[in-house]
Amino acid sequence: MTAHFLPPGIEVFERGWLSANNIFHFGENDASLVDSGYCAHQDLTIGLVRNAMQKHRLLKLNKMVNTHLHSDHCGGNAALVESFHCEVYIPAAEAIAVKNWDSTLLSYDNLGQECPQFPYQGVLVPGEEILLGRYFWKILAAPGHDPHSVMLYQADHRILISADALWEEGFGVIFPELWGEAGFEEVAQTLDLIEALPVNLVIPGHGAPFVDVSKSLASARSRLDYLASDPDRNARHGAKVLLKYRLLEWRSRDLAQVNEWIVKTPALMSAAKLLNMNIDEFTQWLPKALVKSGAAKIENKTLVDLG
Ligand SMILES: [Zn+2]
Repeated sequence: MTAHFLPPGIEVFERGWLSANNIFHFGENDASLVDSGYCAHQDLTIGLVRNAMQKHRLLKLNKMVNTHLHSDHCGGNAALVESFHCEVYIPAAEAIAVKNWDSTLLSYDNLGQECPQFPYQGVLVPGEEILLGRYFWKILAAPGHDPHSVMLYQADHRILISADALWEEGFGVIFPELWGEAGFEEVAQTLDLIEALPVNLVIPGHGAPFVDVSKSLASARSRLDYLASDPDRNARHGAKVLLKYRLLEWRSRDLAQVNEWIVKTPALMSAAKLLNMNIDEFTQWLPKALVKSGAAKIENKTLVDLG
């Protein structure tokens, strides 16, 4: 459906919420993939890449490029490196964290997620360009959802790979605000940066590519106003998203085990503090909040995902 808007040499593998979209770029001198999905889906990711390579008679995947290092965007890196011997490119600000696989600097422990360790060979420096397939893409800093996230912009075709900085409806959770770091202002600045670019097509981290950028910017800004005017809203939303993400993989989980995970996930404990709830209140509240929003149900003391 959306292929119609894409110039030759770019294919979007639209995924879901647990795995971010994969964007496949191919040309005479390069084949690269942007973002690799979640580790539980790595076999599917490898299959999608392999199919595309066969279809276009490509012998080599040169680069695996990550917009940011959340587990839904780079969870397939390790498996892709093993299968295709590709080089990995990460945002420059994450280099030390990845080199040392520093669990304090990387987000996985903090967000209660999993990501297999991977090596990297190159870094993405905002302001520089990178060849993906047959086009050069400008690397743009896009803090807010994640302080080190980048977007990729192709000026000739006016295409923006926006990661989680802009979706058709909204943007990724403003995580830094959950633990007392700045995020609202950064999101506003990133939206301003997007508005200043001529963009005909946005390829987001989740959801289908879209063309009505002003409409999406307007809805993102009204969402940002709503969240920033009462940071409790951002904390409640972020906590629900983190549990829902985990539940997407679990499908169903005994409530006692859910609570165990909540208590040992630092970002959730920070959210509880922000919301002035003690641990008991918070572990009582969070699964019920997910049920109330229609994303899960509780059956026989088990939390069950509703898709
Ligand atoms: Zn993300």
